[in-house]
Amino acid sequence: MLWLLMTTGKCNLVCDYCGGSFPRDVVSWSVKYDISKLKSTIETRDRSPTVIFYGGEPLMNPKFIMKTMDSLNATRWGVQTNGTAVRMLPESYWKRMNVALLSIDGREQITDKHRGKGIYKRVVENASYLKSLGVETIARMAVTMDSDIYEEVKHLVELGVFDKIHWQLNVIWSERWDFENWAEKSYLPGLEKLMDIFMQNLSQGILIKIIPFLGVISAHFTGGYRGSPCGAGYSSITVTPEGRVLSCPIAVREKWAELGTVNEFRLLEDPLPDYCKTCDVKKYCGGRCLYASNEKYWGEEGFQLVDSVTKKYLRMVISKLPEIEKLIDEGVISKSSLIYDPVQDSTEVIP
Ligand code: SF4
Ligand code: SF4
Repeated sequence: MLWLLMTTGKCNLVCDYCGGSFPRDVVSWSVKYDISKLKSTIETRDRSPTVIFYGGEPLMNPKFIMKTMDSLNATRWGVQTNGTAVRMLPESYWKRMNVALLSIDGREQITDKHRGKGIYKRVVENASYLKSLGVETIARMAVTMDSDIYEEVKHLVELGVFDKIHWQLNVIWSERWDFENWAEKSYLPGLEKLMDIFMQNLSQGILIKIIPFLGVISAHFTGGYRGSPCGAGYSSITVTPEGRVLSCPIAVREKWAELGTVNEFRLLEDPLPDYCKTCDVKKYCGGRCLYASNEKYWGEEGFQLVDSVTKKYLRMVISKLPEIEKLIDEGVISKSSLIYDPVQDSTEVIP
């Protein structure tokens, strides 16, 4: 199970997707519960916990990270960070981390436009440093109308400092923009080109770890997702600095997301939204994002629009499965290399 521990609501950046720090009365800037309580809760509920530090910017509270890593036994440790304050955590702790997800949106001009001048260079430098320490690095992109998905992903693959690439679309939780036009003219054609490169490499036995492709392919072999691939509420929970337990780390204000407290909480028994129950691609999608399906900021029509693009992307990946199965049968690629558990990395799979 995945435990996302919010170390603080504070952030040192003000990226235009999310606007920076949470107000202190929404998400506390310091941890208010007792780590020993968290330890006993994790120990009684989970024999193989993955613990990922989250924020705000988690590295704004390195003391909590160190204290937690010294107190708990986790199978896997990680951080979701904006990648600018990596040196706040001593190297000895980084060496114990398994995975770091660093925010970067692709090429320098795209990243700096949304995250601030000079951010791209700092993130690339820090990703390279973490990789040199043996930490697995994941590029965590936010994709907007400025993004050319093909160019941004290709750039990050070619940089060579990220082991895996993942992205999320800046939709539903942001202001409405001309997503439909962009998706048809830029995003979906870009995905086709990326998929071609992915398949060309795969046919030579090389796996480019593009998570929105890999996670769907994996679902084919593992039986699929019973809810959002991020695990929200059923195989992943978030602990806020005040000790609330939420299904989704974004839903800090929403009542529907509250599952209890660090002392006692429940999990969702049936995490697949009702409207997904009859969907022919639900196995590969799991309902995409639990937050988006509960908070339809773009209205029902906007939600359906995003969903239609999701289905086109899913069908594109699914159409390659026969070819991928052939590559497995021919021994070009192993099935085991295509198995991906997003909960181990705290990724969402479906952009
Ligand atoms: S593609 Fe849409 S309807 Fe189908 S499972 Fe995903 S979110 Fe639900
Ligand atoms: S995909 Fe949606 S439900 Fe899952 S963590 Fe992200 S915002 Fe929350």
